[in-house]
Amino acid sequence: MELDDHAEDLASDLGVDKEEVKSDLQNLVEYSVPIDEATQSLRRKYGDGSSGGGGAPSSKNIGEITPDDGNVTVTGMVLTAGKRSIRYQGSDHVIVEGELADETGTIDYTAWEDFSLSAGDTITAGNAGVREWDGEPELNLGESTSLSFVDDPIEIDATIGGNATLADLQTGDRAVSVEVAVVECERRTIDGRDGETEILSGVFGDESGRLPFTNWDPAPEIEEGGPVRIENAYVQEFRGVPEVNVSEFSIVSAIDREIDVGADTTSMDVGEAVHTGGIYDVEVAGNVIEVRDGSGLIQRCPECYRVIQKGQCRTHGDVDGIDDLRVKAILDDGTGSVTVVLDEEITEDVYGGTLDDALEQAREAMDQSVVADTIRDNIVGHEYTVRGHLSVDEYGANLDAEQFGESDDDPQVRASTFLSAIESGTDDGVAADEEVDA
Ligand SMILES: [Zn+2]
Repeated sequence: MELDDHAEDLASDLGVDKEEVKSDLQNLVEYSVPIDEATQSLRRKYGDGSSGGGGAPSSKNIGEITPDDGNVTVTGMVLTAGKRSIRYQGSDHVIVEGELADETGTIDYTAWEDFSLSAGDTITAGNAGVREWDGEPELNLGESTSLSFVDDPIEIDATIGGNATLADLQTGDRAVSVEVAVVECERRTIDGRDGETEILSGVFGDESGRLPFTNWDPAPEIEEGGPVRIENAYVQEFRGVPEVNVSEFSIVSAIDREIDVGADTTSMDVGEAVHTGGIYDVEVAGNVIEVRDGSGLIQRCPECYRVIQKGQCRTHGDVDGIDDLRVKAILDDGTGSVTVVLDEEITEDVYGGTLDDALEQAREAMDQSVVADTIRDNIVGHEYTVRGHLSVDEYGANLDAEQFGESDDDPQVRASTFLSAIESGTDDGVAADEEVDA
């Protein structure tokens, strides 16, 4: 309704076809351009020089730009410039995205025209649009922007180029460069916007951890298993975690370097990890304070694999369940808590038996909850170090464990053992060992 009113106004002010204006407006709004800015930009597009707030935009330092600024003139250095194809106004459009910096700060930009920007260029962008994205200002460089290259590069603290580790990457990052091993990779056929298309998807790893990826234009270097250097990748959220997107514009090259995947995996407090809102590869440590209902010996629906109660699947009704083992345990480290989910294999470890053993124990007791009780006895009150994928949704934080190992008895001992390993030859290690026995 509101959009329709704006289109009506614009069409009558500018003397153009309402449907045409409305479709332009719709496209801009769908791309999160605020309605005021969208109408202004359409007034410019259809040549109404009289409107638009008046006056030349003021020059601003990057650190001073706020989402309330309509248009600004800025001088800054291009830190990154990455091409990406988006569907815009019904057709594919190549845009350039990246970061611009001066001595006061950095700002994300999107260039809608080909200004031939490269990392390291110092530019002055006259009449750059400012829009808000996720509470932060961003620059739009479009056809009404006058862009010039400045010969004297400005001094900045920020690093040019988008080199990052996987742990650095966050949803929304553009034009990043990473060096990764290909941990998992499969070729899949998907129903893309232009019909069936082949893509690669899997998991990348580097020293800092792992992240899932999609390669929209299969690169042989990735399919062959890497390791590879990838320039101009972008990061989007997929199922609650950041995903590296390698597009047709990304540059993929094989590299000759050993990558020790996960050697420096991010270790975090539980509270800090939950606060990230989802992280693909994380390590936390804490105490198991509870084994939740639905742990131990369970049954799953053969159709949808969801856990069923008394042979009843919510979707498929009366079914012949498949026996399985799993644990949902609450881990707490004082900063926060998370539900750690253990698969069948890890559950067998903490249970101390196989699925067959569990079935046997349940038959003898004529009660399958005895399996969860055994697991409860084994792990509640003990400290574990868990590594896996963390996702956070409305029901709380879940950590799908890939590794679940009991920590040493006492954090203090771990610290002293670590110290004694560094200061080998001193008495500290012995003192620490004596503390354990005491
Ligand atoms: Zn089912």
